[in-house]
Amino acid sequence: MAADNAAAQVSQVSAEDFADILAQTREFVRGAVVPREQEIADTDSVPGDIRRAAADMGLFGYAVPQEWGGLGLDLAQDVELAMEFGYTTLAFRSMFGTNNGIAGQVLVNYGTAEQKQTWLERIASGEVVAAFALTEPGAGSDPAGLRTKAVREGDDWVIDGEKRFITNAPVADLFVVFARTRPADADGPGIAVFLVPATTPGVEVGPKDRKMGQEGAWTSEVRFTGVRVPAAALVGGSEDVGYRAAMVSLARGRMHIAALAVGAAQRALDESVAYAATATQGGTPIGDFQLVQAMIADQYTGVAAGRALVRDIAARYVSGEDRRVGPSAAKLYCTEMAGKVADLAVQIHGGTGYMRGVAVERIYREVRLLRLYEGTSEIQRLIIGGRLVGHAKRETSGAQR
Ligand SMILES: Cc1cc2nc3c(=O)[nH]c(=O)nc-3n(C[C@H](O)[C@H](O)[C@H](O)COP(=O)(O)OP(=O)(O)OC[C@H]3O[C@@H](n4cnc5c(N)ncnc54)[C@H](O)[C@@H]3O)c2cc1C
Repeated sequence: MAADNAAAQVSQVSAEDFADILAQTREFVRGAVVPREQEIADTDSVPGDIRRAAADMGLFGYAVPQEWGGLGLDLAQDVELAMEFGYTTLAFRSMFGTNNGIAGQVLVNYGTAEQKQTWLERIASGEVVAAFALTEPGAGSDPAGLRTKAVREGDDWVIDGEKRFITNAPVADLFVVFARTRPADADGPGIAVFLVPATTPGVEVGPKDRKMGQEGAWTSEVRFTGVRVPAAALVGGSEDVGYRAAMVSLARGRMHIAALAVGAAQRALDESVAYAATATQGGTPIGDFQLVQAMIADQYTGVAAGRALVRDIAARYVSGEDRRVGPSAAKLYCTEMAGKVADLAVQIHGGTGYMRGVAVERIYREVRLLRLYEGTSEIQRLIIGGRLVGHAKRETSGAQR
């Protein structure tokens, strides 16, 4: 129904090898990152040794094809890893999230051979951090309204504009920058995408944003003033791939965020069950109270449903059956579910759940972002409803002809 007739994706990693990668990731997340969550929160940074270990495990390039030094996982495998990443502080995944996801996939899917050659291996190894610079003041949910412009001058492009909330901008080596080369017209939205090294004169990265949560994951504004790049910086060598590249990267990213939400909700559930089994009131473990059990039951059911949805929709993404409606449905359901599960987790912890240093308090703040970025819940609803109704209308008008 929502098929976009895309070719099936082929993973470059066998099921057996992937089982090892998944087990190693799970062990690392739970054994090496979970015990250091407080340190990450207190220092607002992910320690260098964790970063190096993640790079050694290939985590900066798990979604990059093997010919470019990545692990070459498909999306069904990506979401299994993401459910593990979600189990700890989300800053861990954010560190390599843009390389594999929204920024890296623009290059993987639309880059020229030369652009891939120049950047992808260094992205996959973690030597280069890539950031995805789409959002602007007044152009978030509606990127078609972006005002950053790129003007052709001889063999170069000159970029002027302002981006905000750009993940990893303070540490980025490469910005994947969306800019308008002409007004929207019948041929398309007029948006191109450029590869802009962070050291290019005229690129100015603002101070780190002070956020509600996700300490250790950094965002900031980025200003481009008369930034001159060569023609070779235009992704795909075409002015017309930008908008589509953004939409394709974001749809894929939505599956990843949905899976991340499932992982965070699983952690909130595990913390809740452990607390309910041990904390007492009047000598009775609070987990003996049926109203507390009811909260745990609702958490468990949400996590189980989210996990099943993510796996089902990722399989249909990989086969090419649905790469648009399904990812939006998964993101909508799982991120809303994670919000409810985290809220219940705080409730189960009572006053303790409101205290800094308690995992569920961190999770409550962290998962709030998942309903906002890579398309708000409202935008997911518009995509799902709009696509389904649009499809039905086309079927009806086809039948009447
Ligand atoms: C921590 C963080 C990291 C981010 N990282 C990146 C990044 O790396 N790269 C990047 O490019 N961007 C990034 N973003 C930006 C993010 O994708 C946007 O914030 C998000 O898409 C929402 O856009 P907005 O903030 O402009 O809000 P708005 O679009 O102004 O939305 C405000 C409200 O209006 C609603 N709304 C808007 N349009 C409609 C509509 N047509 N119908 C119904 N309701 C509507 C929204 O759902 C929302 O409730 C990040 C944001 C944050 C907070």
